[in-house]
Amino acid sequence: MDAISELQAALGPEACLTGPTLDAIAHRSDASATGRDLPLALLRPGSVAEISMALEICHRHHQPVVPQGGMTGLAGGANCRPGDVALSLARFDGVEEIDPFAGAMIIRAGTVLETAQNAAEDAGFLLPIDLGARGSCQIGGNIATNAGGLRVIRHGTVRDNLLGLEAVQADGTVLSHLSRMQKNNTGYDLRHLLAGSEGTLAVITRAVLRLRPLPKNVETAICALEGYDAVLALMSLARTEVTLCAFEAMWADYFELCGGRRLFADIPPFTVIVETEGGGLETLLERAFEDGIIFDALVARSRADARRFWEVREGALPEAHLPDIANFDVSLPIASADSYARACRVAIAEALPSARSFFFGHIGDSNLHIMVEVPGYSDADVHAVDRIAYDIVRDMGGVISAEHGIGTLKRDWLGHSRGAGELAAMRAIKAALDPAGILNPGKVL
Ligand SMILES: Cc1cc2nc3c(=O)[nH]c(=O)nc-3n(C[C@H](O)[C@H](O)[C@H](O)COP(=O)(O)OP(=O)(O)OC[C@H]3O[C@@H](n4cnc5c(N)ncnc54)[C@H](O)[C@@H]3O)c2cc1C
Repeated sequence: MDAISELQAALGPEACLTGPTLDAIAHRSDASATGRDLPLALLRPGSVAEISMALEICHRHHQPVVPQGGMTGLAGGANCRPGDVALSLARFDGVEEIDPFAGAMIIRAGTVLETAQNAAEDAGFLLPIDLGARGSCQIGGNIATNAGGLRVIRHGTVRDNLLGLEAVQADGTVLSHLSRMQKNNTGYDLRHLLAGSEGTLAVITRAVLRLRPLPKNVETAICALEGYDAVLALMSLARTEVTLCAFEAMWADYFELCGGRRLFADIPPFTVIVETEGGGLETLLERAFEDGIIFDALVARSRADARRFWEVREGALPEAHLPDIANFDVSLPIASADSYARACRVAIAEALPSARSFFFGHIGDSNLHIMVEVPGYSDADVHAVDRIAYDIVRDMGGVISAEHGIGTLKRDWLGHSRGAGELAAMRAIKAALDPAGILNPGKVL
């Protein structure tokens, strides 16, 4: 029997889809819109035992498998090549338990992030992971990409909120360590190895996530600033005066593109959304006015106000306005972000005069996002922009991916951020955990 027939026999036709049904289910591309090929089959196992069985069959047949979560990734990591099988976690979802004593949630990998957030809130806790794709991305995908997002400045990345993990290796072996303890020094920490492994080392099936107290007295403001020095000054002041939950900066062109004129009729050179918990925001803003750091600010008087501010940052999706865009998410020393933006803008305009670039980011975490619109762009155009963005970030001491991961889109540039020895160690780990090379081949390395 061939691999697909064996998978169909083992999982049943409902959980191993082939043929025309696949097109309707749209497993062709993640949110980078770079995927071209449908999988040979889409596996939808509903239990850890079925995931293990599916991988064991694929391993025996040397059948490549691409783990798929909510398909909101921006690095092409969940896209299939011709002949790959996709393994979706969508049917293995749900919160299994909330442990109020440990402050932990035991959750299945296919659970949509927003569902997990709501479950935590219903139990009186905060799940401190949040990103714009919350309505579609899955916990497994969040862990596999070590997602960052909007709360990193307060609570860290997904990795920092991961207490325990269960995953299935390429040959079907289940590695289960659903620990609820914060202290656990029992050998190599596979949690940290698998977080950010982008589906290349194992399929994540369940996790124990840390919960935090619900924040009290959350306050939100959007501030107008004259220059990047003022952004840095506001950041320093805020770090010492208040408990920051978010610090998100937008350069003028991004702010205008995303409907910022609804908030400030004259577009400021920089705007920053500051969100705090525990009070003190208005005092902070008064100090910032007195010190000449900000020249205007709107303070949210209701959740609806705060949502209006956030909509500009994340809701009014620029993809809707710009069909041909390439996304970048670099990390670099926070003080260099504007020099980087200026250098990129000039170099991109010289190389591709019709291109427009827009800058924004989780600047409190040294994470800058760039969207480059290149009308009717070709692969060569994208490569030219990649080279500009990544050469400059390397020269300024940054790295090519802050949070979206490497996937396929940044694979050829990984050497800009990691040394030859590190890459060799990564290849050795990959070979040890997936000797047949069936898990998400062609991604990351
Ligand atoms: C509007 C928008 C806003 C975003 N904002 C942010 C942001 O602020 N911060 C951020 O970090 N990202 C952001 N992203 C990117 C994306 O949402 C994250 O990378 C997210 O974590 C991907 O989750 P997913 O379930 O959609 O994964 P997918 O896109 O399905 O997969 C991503 C990678 O993980 C692997 N994978 C998925 N599930 C598993 C599993 N169970 N086991 C093993 N591997 C698996 C895939 O093979 C692939 O390599 C944003 C995307 C959009 C569209």
